[in-house]
Amino acid sequence: MYIESIVLEHFRNMGRLELTPCQGINVIYGDNAQGKTNLAEAIWLFTGAKSFRGSKEKEMVQFGQEQATALLHFYGGGRSQQAKLRIGNQRQMELNEIALPSPAKMAGVFYSVVFSPVHLSLVKEGPALRRRFLDTALCQVVPKYGSYLREYHRVLDQRNALLKDLERFPQLEDTLVVWDQHFAKLAAAVLYCRFHYVKRMASKAKEVYLGISGQEEELELFMECSVPAQEDMSREQLRQQVLLTLKEKRREDIARGSTSAGPHRDDLEFLVNGVSAKAYGSQGQQRSCVLALKMAECAIIEEIAEESPVILLDDVMSELDSRRRSYLLNKIQGRQVFVTCCDQESVDLLEQGQAFYMEKGCIIPKNTKTGQ
Ligand code: ATP
Ligand code: MG
Repeated sequence: MYIESIVLEHFRNMGRLELTPCQGINVIYGDNAQGKTNLAEAIWLFTGAKSFRGSKEKEMVQFGQEQATALLHFYGGGRSQQAKLRIGNQRQMELNEIALPSPAKMAGVFYSVVFSPVHLSLVKEGPALRRRFLDTALCQVVPKYGSYLREYHRVLDQRNALLKDLERFPQLEDTLVVWDQHFAKLAAAVLYCRFHYVKRMASKAKEVYLGISGQEEELELFMECSVPAQEDMSREQLRQQVLLTLKEKRREDIARGSTSAGPHRDDLEFLVNGVSAKAYGSQGQQRSCVLALKMAECAIIEEIAEESPVILLDDVMSELDSRRRSYLLNKIQGRQVFVTCCDQESVDLLEQGQAFYMEKGCIIPKNTKTGQ
């Protein structure tokens, strides 16, 4: 899969930007605050996911404008396609001139993997970031997962509201039993997808990590679940297990006014040579874990979708040492990549590809800038 062209209008600091990238490595370079990440963000939105920066819709519209638009021509599914995104108070997506009921429907149509400095702290930060990573990756390859997750969070919010009310209205406890049934069904669907995905990811990430560490270190990756569950359980077994846990924790949940177990409390654990990378790993080991995860994410998309995702490397090159950098560049060959960076040095890494200089939200052809 690759982008043939992208046109942005009133997207963040870009009044109008047109880019026709090459099918290999595209380096977008320029000073700070010129719009490099903004461009990567716009590309990412075509996966149907929310901004990887966690931005609100309105923040992506250029100051003083009502609406931002992005038009993407891409090659995917064996043909040239076109997607159009409009952002006002909400996001609206059209695919091949047909309006989609929601931008999330782009999952399974346009694939991308983004790697930014936020991800570099994935191992050492709190579990919410790891859950978000897992959920975002899963949404692309299992489009139904997004609806399970949204529904799960809706039921979780309702269960929590009820738990808070129970202090004043204990007679509502019968209603809780009904909500527990809904909760367990959705929690099982989410857990089932996560277990399968993490299992698949673990074997790929292990292989990549061995490569990065020169065959010296072994990475194990697994889910840490607040519900006593195992990866080989069926959905029905998971449902039973969630129900049992809710029952056991009911008094505790009522006392605290919130749900203490479920997918919203899951975490990912990384062991390097049997030791927790979060607690004991060096910064380099933690970064290698993330690099391994990102490469695994990419490999899974390729297996499931039989398409290479468009890879967005936002500002990570300068954060990686030369060994990891060359490992990454070597491994991603054959795919369309967008690398954003400030320094000309990273551009020199470019043997095959194209460089675009960015200034004040505009792309200026490289030869205009350097006189080459
Ligand atoms: P760095 O190298 O520091 O990462 P960058 O080139 O990636 O920089 P971006 O984050 O892409 O920079 O762009 C930041 C610029 O975009 C800032 O100057 C910011 O004020 C501007 N910006 C962000 N949102 C909007 C908006 N809605 N309207 C206009 N400008 C915006
Ligand atoms: Mg940036």
